[in-house]
Amino acid sequence: MVRILEIERYAKEHNIPIMEKEGIEYLTNYIQEHNIRSILEIGSAIGYSAIQMARISKDIHITTIERDEERYKEAIQNIQDFKLNHQIDILFSDAFDVELEQEYDLIFIDAAKSQYIKFFEKFKHNLKKTGVIFSDNLKFHGLVEGTNQNLSRNVKGIVRKLRNYITFLKENQEFETIFLDIGDGISISWYR
Ligand code: SAH
Ligand code: MG
Repeated sequence: MVRILEIERYAKEHNIPIMEKEGIEYLTNYIQEHNIRSILEIGSAIGYSAIQMARISKDIHITTIERDEERYKEAIQNIQDFKLNHQIDILFSDAFDVELEQEYDLIFIDAAKSQYIKFFEKFKHNLKKTGVIFSDNLKFHGLVEGTNQNLSRNVKGIVRKLRNYITFLKENQEFETIFLDIGDGISISWYR
């Protein structure tokens, strides 16, 4: 599919952190195998992962949230190019300002890495009791497991927050989580 390759190339050129190939393959296979129909995505960027998920089946519906205006506009354009408007609702907002009523089969957390606990706590209320929460970038390009001596203060902060998130998931009484060494590190959480 030429257009998908174009989006991948565009993302690379413009440093837009779309999901790694291995990760998106795993996610889309999971959606297919588990008959996932409704998806909430936090962090659309330019619509790459939403498009990949929506393409699996006409029965899939996605709500995706993006706070960066330029990326939001590019996502709209890409979604239109794929004629997936009727399957993907994109909201231009900070996810923390969004209140949703619906409950979803799958929630995909892929926005600001320092806020994952907050995203999880907020949006678990929109998860079906049988649903799953996916989180991306738990390895943060290998930095989460490294020693991190020469990193900027900002990056160190993100790494610390991601480690806290992993601990939060491991110790969670409500949710069970598995951690997958796929792409940039993925977790899957579900109600115990
Ligand atoms: N899921 C996309 C990549 C998302 S990159 C893909 O794989 O194709 C992360 C995006 O989350 C960025 O574009 C950033 O602007 C957005 N983001 C970060 N924090 C956010 C927030 N609080 N609310 C909405 N979007 C957010
Ligand atoms: Mg990601």
